[in-house]
Amino acid sequence: MSALPSVSAKSQPAAAGAYDVVVVGAGFAGMYMLHRLRRQGLSARVYEQGGDVGGTWYWNRYPGARCDVESMQYSYSFDDELQQQWDWSERYAPQPEILKYAQHVADRFDLRGDIQFETRVDRAEFDEIANTWSVTTSDGRTVTAQYVVLATGCLSNAKMPDIKGLGDFKGKVYHTGHWPHEEVDFTGLRVGVIGTGSSGIQSVPVIAEQASHLTVFQRTANFSIPARNAELTPGEREAFRANYPEIRRIAREEMRNGIVQEVPDRGALDDGENERRAKFESRWSKGGLTFMGVYNNLAFDKAAYDTAAGFVRDKIAEIVEDPQTAKLLQPNDHPIGSKRICIDTDFFATFNRPNVTLVDIKSDPIRQILPHAVRTSAREIEVDALVLATGFDAMTGSVAKIDIRGRNGQTLNQKWAEGPKTYLGLMSAGFPNLFIVTGPGSPSVLSNMIVSIEQHVEWITDCIAWMRDRDLAAIEAGRDAEDRWVAHVNEVAHSTLYPQANSWYMGANVPGKPQIFMPYIGGVGVYRQICNDVAAKGYEGFATTAAEPPQKRAAS
Ligand code: NAP
Repeated sequence: MSALPSVSAKSQPAAAGAYDVVVVGAGFAGMYMLHRLRRQGLSARVYEQGGDVGGTWYWNRYPGARCDVESMQYSYSFDDELQQQWDWSERYAPQPEILKYAQHVADRFDLRGDIQFETRVDRAEFDEIANTWSVTTSDGRTVTAQYVVLATGCLSNAKMPDIKGLGDFKGKVYHTGHWPHEEVDFTGLRVGVIGTGSSGIQSVPVIAEQASHLTVFQRTANFSIPARNAELTPGEREAFRANYPEIRRIAREEMRNGIVQEVPDRGALDDGENERRAKFESRWSKGGLTFMGVYNNLAFDKAAYDTAAGFVRDKIAEIVEDPQTAKLLQPNDHPIGSKRICIDTDFFATFNRPNVTLVDIKSDPIRQILPHAVRTSAREIEVDALVLATGFDAMTGSVAKIDIRGRNGQTLNQKWAEGPKTYLGLMSAGFPNLFIVTGPGSPSVLSNMIVSIEQHVEWITDCIAWMRDRDLAAIEAGRDAEDRWVAHVNEVAHSTLYPQANSWYMGANVPGKPQIFMPYIGGVGVYRQICNDVAAKGYEGFATTAAEPPQKRAAS
């Protein structure tokens, strides 16, 4: 890996405080967006509330945090030298390494000059006469831009649980999605972890090694598959590098989730019990998300998913020595895969440690946090520190925190009060020149995020270039096209078992949030083709406004 010399690069606004594009967020989406905009000769300003680049990987520093998509695929593909030169150390990169990668990208493409850190975008208001956005930031300044791009991330708004007495707790309280930068040492402490989603499942085994005692408060048991993480060998890295163009093409065009893996040609019931068990066993040994790819109907057919769920429940019973604990850890209230499947390293085995206790808060709910304890209906458990692995207000939470006002002063929160409405997950009618990267209505969280980010950034920047070539001032999703897309997203989701779970995909983890299946489940390959076709047809379904004179206004 070569560290390229840092040359000062900064895009130049036409006038002070007037940019072509304002980008909100400097995670993987915001960074690539800035890079592309600059290459198009546009001026851009990126605002980032964190102190550095990295987004998710800047905030989620909890013990054990790592990606559940293999590193060689969870990386940018837009620059061949970058992908050939960066050395990933492990099959699933740990958080510090992914953050280092993000920082390397920022250095390599000299991005920081156009990013203002520790600054939130509080408000964005569309000026219907000038066709520009006026953007106000937490430092009290206001700038204008023709376009605003929300690169705010899908899982960036950490959700604090509403538990009585939490504020009275005298020990330290940590949220996995907002972890401190300095090292947290649990040695000798009694720790309570609340939540057993991906973040809880990753952090529990690591915290258990330090804590004098760890109590895990579980409301809903989750399906988890062993990661089988390991160091990558030079040979494994080379195999990817030699075939990267084709691997990336397949990820983009042919895979449902943007991750290259074997595509099953059979359903679970096409095999007899022994053969099926052998296949599950082989995927369990291999580890990782590919477990769900062993058959082609696990997300669609109840009888099929029952076979996979039964297999995982049997594994939990084999691993966990105490039968009562094993039973509590066996998920039984949702189809496997209908909530994001977790990938772990020794999560279930951790409950065999003498210093770890599982508390089932479904049958014995948490009533109150006391200054030094968690009180459930039945008991009081003393703890010195609390870890809240309670998840995020996903997909819309970070957008909702910004006061976004489009045509006629309507806010995006008003428009989305019954659930997010977008055309292609990219724009929302009534909010011209406002793009969302991996927004609701796009594959986003159901895919390898970097594949989806790159697709959106390229589509958006191509659209802006197309607009400039034609001297167009504004582009906006048409309401009919948006309604049709929302109906399509919904219809595809309901042909699967996903909506059957109370998941964050549905907004079900946030009290009062409308329950709508937010991501597009049709697959990244299909979705990319739809977006490309729309663009090829002159951005079909979008309406454009000519810059001058106004009578040249054209609707497509
Ligand atoms: P999550 O999946 O939403 O899990 C939150 C957990 O907290 C659930 O067990 C939930 O229980 C529990 N919980 C929430 N509020 C609670 C309350 N008031 N009282 C008690 N328990 C409560 O959140 P997450 O684990 O942070 O993961 C979110 C997503 O981030 C993942 O699905 C994944 O997409 C991503 N992620 C990925 C990785 C990775 O790449 N390896 C790692 C971490 C996260 P209920 O289920 O009963 O609501």
